[in-house]
Amino acid sequence: MVLIFADQIEGQIKKQGFEAVSYGAKIAENLGTTAEVLVLGTVDNANEALAALGKYGATKVHYASNAIFDTFDAQVYAAAIADAVAAVGANVVVFSHTTTGKAIAPRLSARLKAGLVAGAISLPDITSGFVVKKLVFSGKAFAHVGVNTPIKVISLNPNAFGVKQQEGTAEVIALDLKPMAGKITVKEVNKITGTVPLGEAELVISGGRGLKGPENWYLVEDLANEIGAATACSRAVADAHWRPHHEHVGQTGGAVAPNLYFAIGISGAIQHLAGVNRSKTIVVINKDPEAPFFKAADYGIVGDAFVVMPKIVEAVKKMKATS
Ligand SMILES: Cc1cc2nc3c(=O)[nH]c(=O)nc-3n(C[C@H](O)[C@H](O)[C@H](O)COP(=O)(O)OP(=O)(O)OC[C@H]3O[C@@H](n4cnc5c(N)ncnc54)[C@H](O)[C@@H]3O)c2cc1C
Repeated sequence: MVLIFADQIEGQIKKQGFEAVSYGAKIAENLGTTAEVLVLGTVDNANEALAALGKYGATKVHYASNAIFDTFDAQVYAAAIADAVAAVGANVVVFSHTTTGKAIAPRLSARLKAGLVAGAISLPDITSGFVVKKLVFSGKAFAHVGVNTPIKVISLNPNAFGVKQQEGTAEVIALDLKPMAGKITVKEVNKITGTVPLGEAELVISGGRGLKGPENWYLVEDLANEIGAATACSRAVADAHWRPHHEHVGQTGGAVAPNLYFAIGISGAIQHLAGVNRSKTIVVINKDPEAPFFKAADYGIVGDAFVVMPKIVEAVKKMKATS
């Protein structure tokens, strides 16, 4: 059986959770088994919200609503999921390769002595063994990883498979887990509110050092506001305190996988690309035709952002007014 961990935040299942369920359901279909989901913590309108996971191919949802899971602690989660795997008898455990999945999956695989594929981008090839493709070297190469252990753990790169909907309702089953006491205490949580979380954004407008200073961020924000996009930046920009660090994307920052990544005045260093190269469409605006980002771009404009961006915003406004 394939068990998919669907992450919830503030009572809602995350979009990446729906994708992980879709992916796990396809693995289950290929293996001739069922896909079941595990949800930890309190979910709003649980019966309805969890039964709806049937739309992504789950037959059952195991729901452990203990309040201890409302505060995320990777050790507590990994121990509880290991107990759930034993209780429901799963052979394949699927996570989304989000901050949460990245923290839990290795701990779970160590507990279960299970092989782990972190950051999978394909369905397992089961024609001979169990082989999963993943990105390595910051997205510069692929590895095909064979997993030989009886239990297999996979974390799926967000947007690598997509959300697949079908007809169906899942059976919701209360799961009685006895979580271990956490070894850490969360003293304070500071939440960013009012913006689309970068990891989940479909549209991202991002700025680099080419914008010269924080006072020029209107060039990013005007377009972001027009099209309802999240804003991001390069590390150089966050290091210079032009923008907050939670906006920095790349190898040492957040990873994004939107439908559109719009890079303004960013050189496209390999460490930046590592966080954005899963975007569906990349648009680059840079005044230097030799900027490395153009090699990764689907569309590029060689030009001065201070001239080009206001024209793009104007064009978007006109298009919205006439549509
Ligand atoms: C270990 C390590 C980890 C790192 N991790 C990250 C990371 O996670 N994320 C990250 O982003 N970086 C990371 N970096 C830094 C990375 O190597 C680059 O230094 C950084 O991405 C550069 O940021 P930038 O492109 O904004 O600035 P620059 O390299 O200064 O590039 C600015 C660009 O703007 C263009 N430009 C200038 N003026 C204009 C204009 N008027 N109109 C249009 N274009 C213009 C220039 O042609 C240039 O291409 C890391 C580095 C190391 C060593």
